[in-house]
Amino acid sequence: MGKFCTNCGAQLKDKAAFCSNCGSAVAAQSHSSGSLSGNSMPGLVGFSRRINDPEVIKEIEDRNKKGRGCIFIGIPLPFIIFLIVSFVSDEVDTLDAIVFGGGISVAFLLIYLFAEYLSNSKRSWDGIVTDKELKNKTRRFRDGDIEHYIQCTVSFRTDSGKKHFSVSTSNGNPEFKDYYDYLNVGDRVRYHPQLPFKYEKYDKSHDSEIPCMFCKTINDIQNDRCEVCNCLLFK
Ligand SMILES: [Zn+2]
Ligand SMILES: [Zn+2]
Repeated sequence: MGKFCTNCGAQLKDKAAFCSNCGSAVAAQSHSSGSLSGNSMPGLVGFSRRINDPEVIKEIEDRNKKGRGCIFIGIPLPFIIFLIVSFVSDEVDTLDAIVFGGGISVAFLLIYLFAEYLSNSKRSWDGIVTDKELKNKTRRFRDGDIEHYIQCTVSFRTDSGKKHFSVSTSNGNPEFKDYYDYLNVGDRVRYHPQLPFKYEKYDKSHDSEIPCMFCKTINDIQNDRCEVCNCLLFK
């Protein structure tokens, strides 16, 4: 019996790990038997094709453009400010200002380039959630203050066998449990480095809720668009 891609419906070659038509990974368990358990909805099984939707692509580009606009003002700013200060004030040497201001500008540039690298869509992978962990942590400051916080770790194994971790802490981050709450051990996921919410479940058919990949709002699974930002949901 032939197998079909749960994402686009194209016929799959025997033992194919990826669909030759849309590139989505084929789940280890066979979906061709038709014996879907419980109240699962077949339409919600498979990675969403919306990552290739022109509207989603445009949304990602628009957000990147905005970020880039800020960064191209922000990078040369320290250099310019130090230079101006050195001209106005007698106490700051021009050479010092160039070295200091330029140094800060270069540091900003490196941070920007690293962030660009991290969010490159080519760093995407498919994998499995292997573990979830919540840890109570304490941090002791020099003045004797003690801060208690929670550390969330979700572990993954990519299809190519690499380990990947998502670590977040509760201090100053109200979203720290987003991935921990959404993902379960054993879930098949796709990592989207270019999106604010980075993990998409392969099988959403048992869920009543779906996160917006852009603003991270939890929506009803029946929605087609996010209630808050109106972006397309990944289903
Ligand atoms: Zn396909
Ligand atoms: Zn949204």
